[in-house]
Amino acid sequence: MKELNNENAFFNAEELITNAPDQDFDSCLKCDFNLKESELYDTYRVCSSCNFHFYIKPYDRLALLTDRASFVEFNQELTNVHEYTHDELPEYKKRTKSDVERTGLNDSVITGIGTMGGNSCVIILMDFSFMGGNLGLVSGEKISLAIDEAVSRKIPIVSIISSSGTRIEEGILSLMQMAKVTLSMANAKSKNIPSLSLLTNPCTGQAYITLATYSDIILSEPGASVGMSPLKDLKGDYGSVDFESRASDSMLKRGLIDSIVNRNQQKEQISRIIDLLNNNHKLVYENNESNKPNFSLSNLSIEERVKISLSDKRPSSSIFLKKVFENFFEIKGDRLLDNSDRIITGLAQLGSQTVMIVAQENINENNSIDGLKSSDFRKCSRAINLASRFNIPLITFIDTVGHNMTYNEEIKGIGTSLGETMLSMAQMSSPSISVLITRGGSEAALSLDISDRRLMLENAILVMGDNRDDKDSLNKPSIIGAKECKDLNIVDSVIPEPVGGIHMNPDECFSLLRKFLMIELAMLNKKSERSRFKDKYKKFRNISDFNNSYLYNLANEAIAAKGKITDYISKKISDRKRKIRKIQSE
Ligand SMILES: [Zn+2]
Repeated sequence: MKELNNENAFFNAEELITNAPDQDFDSCLKCDFNLKESELYDTYRVCSSCNFHFYIKPYDRLALLTDRASFVEFNQELTNVHEYTHDELPEYKKRTKSDVERTGLNDSVITGIGTMGGNSCVIILMDFSFMGGNLGLVSGEKISLAIDEAVSRKIPIVSIISSSGTRIEEGILSLMQMAKVTLSMANAKSKNIPSLSLLTNPCTGQAYITLATYSDIILSEPGASVGMSPLKDLKGDYGSVDFESRASDSMLKRGLIDSIVNRNQQKEQISRIIDLLNNNHKLVYENNESNKPNFSLSNLSIEERVKISLSDKRPSSSIFLKKVFENFFEIKGDRLLDNSDRIITGLAQLGSQTVMIVAQENINENNSIDGLKSSDFRKCSRAINLASRFNIPLITFIDTVGHNMTYNEEIKGIGTSLGETMLSMAQMSSPSISVLITRGGSEAALSLDISDRRLMLENAILVMGDNRDDKDSLNKPSIIGAKECKDLNIVDSVIPEPVGGIHMNPDECFSLLRKFLMIELAMLNKKSERSRFKDKYKKFRNISDFNNSYLYNLANEAIAAKGKITDYISKKISDRKRKIRKIQSE
């Protein structure tokens, strides 16, 4: 069996879409696999051996993506009123006529309304077989009209893009279509209309910029060429460009798209994302707030709790996500440079309500060099801002040694990125809950902890200064446990762990956390945005008032003193409270 590389297969495919889009293949363009009796190829035009995604005709694609007989096309008859461009360019006129006859389309885009998994959405499909799928006067107008329709109906926009380059024959008027589409998308964003793009091979040029990069969620088919310039126009350092570096799989690693989805899973995935973004259900707690569960905490010393928190068997954030939530869809990347596993972001459901998850995944907790990087904070900010825009509650999981303290990260602006995350948390318009599950290291932990409700697992610890290298006697890290944090009003609730720690029976803790989160979220759902912000502001202002900073210093003093810390803190706190009560009664 011959094995071609992706680049050859891609260029062969591109040429064939233009010259013979209807062609059926007996063998795969990439791996030569026999396709004659392949169900996957017959239905989805995908090679069942190497997963190469062939071109699929636009109406066939719509039939795969939308619910049966639901798609209604609009503006099918729209034509170019600027006939002068045709008269001056007879060759262009001839090609337009032949593309119209061959494809049955009036231009490079099909627009309409349809349902996906029962969800209504406006669909914009750009098709490479008509003039390379580029943006001309007719396609620009059709796209803007479609976006306006989504705004007036308050339904999501789904764009499916196979496009390349520019409609050079229509000159400056073609370029202006980008401005027009950009303004339509800006209007849709200001009205909080969700947008999702599916990139197919190739997805480049003006359509990539104006439809794909503006979308809230970007999916791609495997092996698609994705970027601004068509691959054949790009000149690398040595006169050629590495195809793989521009393929969708590589763009995923570089944080520019959210997910690669095979064609046979696209309808299900897109429907699921729209369900999550539509955010149609809200949790309600029928009981009184005063009847919330109340638990006594263990009397273990801080040293014993630190030991439990450092157990290798303690579950990481990714396990919590699987066990506490349903229907998780991961969104990836900082939409600039990187996507790392140190931060997990995505939409999920808690009960029936959509929530955005932002979780720190402590992949190597004992190595401070692995602390969170600037791209990790950008990834957090992107998810937080998305949740805020669609009024989706945010749940953060905190487990980090701290931020990455290298010079390299400093010059990448880690301070700005971390600050942006913190400010996004403070400005959240939707409800937010943070959960400190294992270790909260300094500023990196706080970046996801400026929330309406702060929860902490019983044996988790809050640490200040642990990621520094110069730990001399004056630079000892401050360590404080959940019990002390509760006494100091640093956290709102402590989630009990099984005897011996969560690792002894994680499911017990997962179901308890789930119960806490559902009650807290239902309580927050009842409050207005303004009232939530006021409560949050008051809470954090109170932590740093005189009485509390005094208590915080006491806790640190106690830890430095070691020994019977819990008793020491309790005694000092009750002494102080007694004094305050005495002063108040006088
Ligand atoms: Zn193949």
